[in-house]
Amino acid sequence: MYAKDRLYLTRSIIFSTIFIRVNMKGRHTSLIVFLVLLPLVIHAEKRIAPRVLKVGVYDNPPKIFVDKKGNPDGIFIDVIRSVYPSNELHLEFVYGKWSELVGKLKKGEIDVLPDMAYSPERDSLFTLSIPVLSSWLQVYTTTSSIINKTEDLHHKRIGVLKSSSQEEYVKTDIQRNFHIKYTVIGYDTYTQSVEALKAGKIDALIADRFFYFSELCDEDILASGVVLQVSSLHFAFSKNTDHTLVEVLNKTISLQYNQPQSAYYQSLQKWFNKHKTRLPESVRWLIGVLSFAMIVFLLFTVVLRARVQAKTRALNQQNKELIAAKMKAEESDRLKTAFLQNLSHEIRTPLNGILGFVNVLQDPHFNDERKNQFIEIVNKSSERLLSTINDIIEISKIDSNQVEVNPEPVNICAIMEYQYKAHREKAIAKGLVLKVQTQQVPENTSLITDKTMLSNIISILLNNAVKFTNEGTIELGCFIEQSSLVGYVKDTGIGIPPDRLEAIFDRFVNADLELSRPYEGSGLGLAIVKSYLSLLKGTIRVESEEDKGSVFYFTLPLNS
Ligand code: ADP
Repeated sequence: MYAKDRLYLTRSIIFSTIFIRVNMKGRHTSLIVFLVLLPLVIHAEKRIAPRVLKVGVYDNPPKIFVDKKGNPDGIFIDVIRSVYPSNELHLEFVYGKWSELVGKLKKGEIDVLPDMAYSPERDSLFTLSIPVLSSWLQVYTTTSSIINKTEDLHHKRIGVLKSSSQEEYVKTDIQRNFHIKYTVIGYDTYTQSVEALKAGKIDALIADRFFYFSELCDEDILASGVVLQVSSLHFAFSKNTDHTLVEVLNKTISLQYNQPQSAYYQSLQKWFNKHKTRLPESVRWLIGVLSFAMIVFLLFTVVLRARVQAKTRALNQQNKELIAAKMKAEESDRLKTAFLQNLSHEIRTPLNGILGFVNVLQDPHFNDERKNQFIEIVNKSSERLLSTINDIIEISKIDSNQVEVNPEPVNICAIMEYQYKAHREKAIAKGLVLKVQTQQVPENTSLITDKTMLSNIISILLNNAVKFTNEGTIELGCFIEQSSLVGYVKDTGIGIPPDRLEAIFDRFVNADLELSRPYEGSGLGLAIVKSYLSLLKGTIRVESEEDKGSVFYFTLPLNS
């Protein structure tokens, strides 16, 4: 319709312009035409002037009310919005109390007031739309006052909405028709009247049936069976309002009545179902308490789980440590047993040799040659016993910090040459080749270190090389690497299993744990070497391959 207005105006202007141009020749004719068309244009402009419809909004949910965000809502608002689309007409909402709004409507300060119950007087004062809803009055109470029939209102205090149609009806008609007397108290809003009812300031509240579906009517308020005055509810337009707007409203509502899916029925559905879906207070409390308990339980479970996991982690760690400690203890136990057996073997064997052959020496049946052989055995056994005892004494001295480092300038080549000579015979006796390689180190290379300790280190390593090599070559040598002197003893002997490479430097440890091992030795030699090197700020390491041979490298700092 408003689009039509615009078309009408446009057409008028174009038409008048063309007409004027065509008739420009005669000034008088043009003026006449312009004057004739002017009212038409003005009329058209008036029809499309910004259309604003001032709608009164008061508080009577769910029919009409202001929501929590301050916007108008309710059945009447849904209906009026569906009737006048926003692009055609701007609805301006004017908030107020019912009585104020009725006054404004009378004065034409607002255009329309929804939710007006029919009365002949109102019909004459305003332009009423066709009925939008039908209503009736109902008596609402609380559990503290029992009202089962209209007569029960006798001597009661009754609340009504001020200036509403029911106020007049309650004040006069009911008392007259039922011959009863009561006090009527008017309230500006339903909220106030509900508060008064709950506070016991009134015994009953008379409101329309829609009140039952509003949020205000909670479980504390009872809808008594007492029903009064059936009425129809309308949009009341001010007498000044453009009548076409009323027509549009009436036609649209009539159409919506006949369409079950219309905005009208959707609104009813929305507002009347609202109350039904609300759960009783007790159930809502129960759900609240259960939800809270659930959250607490969940939190408790989460915390408990985290604590259990932390505890499990700690226990797992402890377990790992215990297993490692157990394995270490078992290993120590095995080593201790092996050592004791080894040590007693290392002491007993030479001792038996000594005692046995000393006795045999006294036997006159043996000639001198045989006796010399026995003396040789007694000597070797004594040396072996002495060596073992010396090792034990040395390790005890190291343990009790009695070993002192006496640094002095040392010629490494000379020491190596000396040790080479000391072990050459033993090697040759086993059919081995013993070599010394010191050429890589300048003759005059002087090292400040403990000479005795260095000699002992080389001696122990050479001794082992000869002991654990059955054929091939043993090489003793040294070279300079960065700021260290590296000495080495290389052999083509039995080699060391990879899993024993570290352990051999521990005390009383042999690479072969078996008692039946064919090589004698207390397992202290490498431990002494390692302790010496630590005192001399040096290091030791080994590279070895079983059945191929081993290389023991030791380093000493050159600047020390
Ligand atoms: P001992 O030689 O008295 O047994 P050591 O501490 O000198 O004690 O050596 C520990 C172990 O290391 C030896 O028992 C042996 O099993 C192994 N070992 C040392 N040197 C060599 C080597 N050159 N070749 C093979 N195994 C060796």
